[in-house]
Amino acid sequence: MPVQIPFDTSYARLPERFFVRMAPQAVSAPRLVRLNLPLCEALGLDPAALASPEGVEILAGNRVAEGAAFIAQAYAGHQFGHFNPQLGDGRAILLGEVVGRDGQRRDLQLKGSGRTPFSRGGDGRAAIGPVLREYIISEAMFALGIPTTRSLAAVLTGDQVFREAALPGAVLTRVAASHIRVGTFQFFAARGDAEAVRLLADHVIARHYPEAAAAEAPYRALLEGVIARQAGLVAQWMLVGFIHGVMNTDNTTVSGETIDYGPCAFMDHYDPSTVFSSIDHAGRYAYGNQPRILQWNLARLAEALLPLLAEDEQKAVDLAQESLTGFVAQFQSAWLDGMRRKLGLATAREEDAALIAGLLGAMQEAGADFTQTFRLLGEAAEDPAADADLAALFGATGAYAPWAAQWRARLAAEPLAARATAMRAVNPAFIPRNHMVEAALAAATEREDFAPFEELLSVLARPYEDQPRHARYAAPPEPEQRVLQTFCGT
Ligand code: AMP
Ligand code: MG
Repeated sequence: MPVQIPFDTSYARLPERFFVRMAPQAVSAPRLVRLNLPLCEALGLDPAALASPEGVEILAGNRVAEGAAFIAQAYAGHQFGHFNPQLGDGRAILLGEVVGRDGQRRDLQLKGSGRTPFSRGGDGRAAIGPVLREYIISEAMFALGIPTTRSLAAVLTGDQVFREAALPGAVLTRVAASHIRVGTFQFFAARGDAEAVRLLADHVIARHYPEAAAAEAPYRALLEGVIARQAGLVAQWMLVGFIHGVMNTDNTTVSGETIDYGPCAFMDHYDPSTVFSSIDHAGRYAYGNQPRILQWNLARLAEALLPLLAEDEQKAVDLAQESLTGFVAQFQSAWLDGMRRKLGLATAREEDAALIAGLLGAMQEAGADFTQTFRLLGEAAEDPAADADLAALFGATGAYAPWAAQWRARLAAEPLAARATAMRAVNPAFIPRNHMVEAALAAATEREDFAPFEELLSVLARPYEDQPRHARYAAPPEPEQRVLQTFCGT
């Protein structure tokens, strides 16, 4: 079956110093594990063709799709605060861009596709576990309504990769608005290549911020556009308990999508200091630090853009500072609005911040489950019988009843219409709980049993619906089920 992918790769038309042209390295025995049918549909790709032997060869990097660009992108980045001037796609190849049925241009990238000149010490490969983790969590984020890269396909390579142990190798086909990172700008800025910074900025404006082109100061509008989208994004992360885990500047997009799902995980019991990543010893990327870290990353973007903001350096710095200051207010207001919706508040009042802080403080003290608390509040809004379940979550602290009295007093000042329905639409019942994710990855890795992975994906595709049959996916882990550490697996 002929596989036709209508590539139109604008990034490949940028100067050669933006990337290295090279094909993926072939693998031994490609086997399709999963193809994302709704995403095929959205992209206008034929799933039957992609699932055919020829299609699977393309998804594994063994065959050249007609019209593919095949490039490894150059970028730099601050990793845990330390600048590395040369990172780049060390284990990924961009096949090209396609314009979907919705008119949106998206990258198709193979991740785990072999060594490139950017690989440094790495093998260029990925193991099945991390590939499926990215598949599960990126698709869960999409279903939750959070901007994210997506997963089109996962294939087993038939080769082993060597980490702490020998593991089955895999390739993920990642779909993204683009793979341009804060670190892509840093790559050129660090080399003093002002022309490339400008070309990249123009490319990003055309692709992601067309409205900035018409602004009085287009590059400042670009910076402010990225700040606005990223402020909204991190607010959404915080509202569902998502912890990215490696918020390096090379893992921060300019499109405003979540990218690079490594040791990421969702928090169970509420605690702002929660860290899962095995390599984040200092807790730099802890749940509660994420907004601050993002602002820091955006400051690195602003630095890279300085020469474009104003001719006078001090003027450029002042403008950048002013734009960055806006981040805090934008994040705060997105977060506060989101929290109000989670509590069923349709109007805004000064005292809401204290009401929210009171709940979070009590949750932290009691170790209450983040997702379950908010989901149950939706029930309690409708039927006070749910109060007993909530009180149980707060256990011996007894903190729920006094807080609920304040909450109900506040709700009394609001219209009641459709409150519980509105709350259910923003408080998910299902998140990718880490112990369930790990169980699915273990089954796939150890036994080639993909049934738990499939079931988890199907539950997470409808996170806001009650699915009584799948109640076990909604439950927090029992103490002995808790998985406290996640690994990049790189
Ligand atoms: P990450 O932390 O996974 O986002 O990756 C940071 C950098 O390391 C990027 O330049 C990646 O391309 C590179 N990298 C990660 N894993 C590998 C690998 N297995 N082989 C080669 N390069 C890798
Ligand atoms: Mg990365």
